Amino acid sequence: EKKQLTKLKNLPSITLDNHKVHICANISTVHDIVKAQENGAEGIGLYRTEFLFMNRNALPTEEEQFQAYKNAAESMYNQSIIIRIMDIGGDKNLPYMNLPHEDNPFLGWRAIRILMDRKDMLHTQLRAILRASFFGKLRIMYPMIISVEEIQQLNTELNFLKTQLHNSGEKFDENIKVGVMIETPSAAIIAHHLIKEVDFFSIGTNDLTQYTLAVDRGNKLISHLYNPMSPSILILIKKIIESSHIAGKWTAMCGEMAGDERAVPLLLGMGLDEFSMSAISIPKVKKIIRNTYYHDAQLLAQKALKCSTTEELMKLLSSHLPIQE
Ligand code: PEP
Ligand code: MG
Repeated sequence: EKKQLTKLKNLPSITLDNHKVHICANISTVHDIVKAQENGAEGIGLYRTEFLFMNRNALPTEEEQFQAYKNAAESMYNQSIIIRIMDIGGDKNLPYMNLPHEDNPFLGWRAIRILMDRKDMLHTQLRAILRASFFGKLRIMYPMIISVEEIQQLNTELNFLKTQLHNSGEKFDENIKVGVMIETPSAAIIAHHLIKEVDFFSIGTNDLTQYTLAVDRGNKLISHLYNPMSPSILILIKKIIESSHIAGKWTAMCGEMAGDERAVPLLLGMGLDEFSMSAISIPKVKKIIRNTYYHDAQLLAQKALKCSTTEELMKLLSSHLPIQE
């Protein structure tokens, strides 16, 4: 088992008919990078930075954040790291910020909605990321986007900070890539507009499922209704990937669905470019990709998109699991 893992680790994520995808790990702290590398991650597809803000008594300073991002950049050498800016709110609270009580926190003051009202926090984080980008291949990702205006406003702030750093002679990656998480139905539906503002997409199926199906992702009473393998979600995923490809750009997925072995051949066939997941799932996903023909996966995706129920979809997928040696 261990030997097999080591062998797989250095092999590319490529189908039997030579279609290459990118398999990455999701991390919460810099320490998770070791495990990502042990499992053969080709990059970090989601760095959840809110953990830098949690379990402490005050906001992290620019210097503290800079050190963390620089550390991550250097540990990954030349492999890319997608840094998601702070996604506090929803179910993640920060006691020291005294966030107000909300009746619907998942629909409330969350992520960039907080950052746009707290420009000090936004600027501190973006400056830290920009400065760290000199030490590796960092990318910036905006969470919880619902509109073009939000991206434009965030990009305006980012460009302002880049000019500032540039003028003060600080070194950073002037061409740093910027992407958005597609995790609201609104973002998925207008993906063809959003893609004009950014370099890439990353699909957050955890929230996309919650918001599209109107099913709280943490509520046990309705957990049977929470399933990304739903016809509505598939249509959105297809739309997102297509919009990025038409614009000559790419789409990743960093929600749990990307590491679900039943979903992998389907997502592959839909043209997903990057799969990002918890490190332990990487070997099995890589194995599936390496045992699949891209052409077969495309045919599977075509059939899957015609399914009108989750049951039908699940049946189709289980009959198409690639043979494991
Ligand atoms: C998601 O929503 O799919 C996602 C990856 O982000 P998080 O789970 O941190 O909300
Ligand atoms: Mg999310």
